[in-house]
Amino acid sequence: MCLFCKIIAREIPASIVYEDDRVLAFDDINPQAPTHVLVIPKRHIGTLSELQPDDDGIVGELVRRAAILAGERGIAISGFRTVFNTNRDAGQTVFHIHLHLLGGRGLAWPPG
Ligand code: AMP
Ligand code: ZN
Repeated sequence: MCLFCKIIAREIPASIVYEDDRVLAFDDINPQAPTHVLVIPKRHIGTLSELQPDDDGIVGELVRRAAILAGERGIAISGFRTVFNTNRDAGQTVFHIHLHLLGGRGLAWPPG
C-alpha cells in the first residue's frame, strides 16, 4: 500500500483537515508555506498520466475542495497556488496523486 493509502487507512497518522467518501485533505508534514495542505482522492491513482475519463469528476472535486479550504484558511482573496507534481522533473515523491494547496505568503513565479 502506498504512503497516502496508508494515511487514508489510518495506518499512518496525519493532521486531517477534510474528509468525505471520496476525498481526504491533510496538512503537509514539511510545509512550504503557512498553508500547505494536500488534497487526495481516496481511490489510488499514481500520477496524472494515468487519469481516465471516469476520473474527471474526482479531479474536479480535488480542485473545488482546495478552493474551499483556501477560503476557510482566509487566503482566497490574498491568493493561493494549487499544484500537481508529476514524475521526476516536477519532483513527485509520492505516487498517489495529490493537489498541493499553498498560500499565506507571496509565492514566486516561475517556480524553481
Ligand atoms: P510531491 O513531492 O509533490 O510528491 O509531494 C509529496 C508531499 O508529501 C511532500 O510535500 C511531503 O512533504 C509530503 N509528505 C510526505 N510524507 C508525508 C506524511 N506522512 N504526511 C503528510 N505529508 C507528507
Ligand atoms: Zn495510494
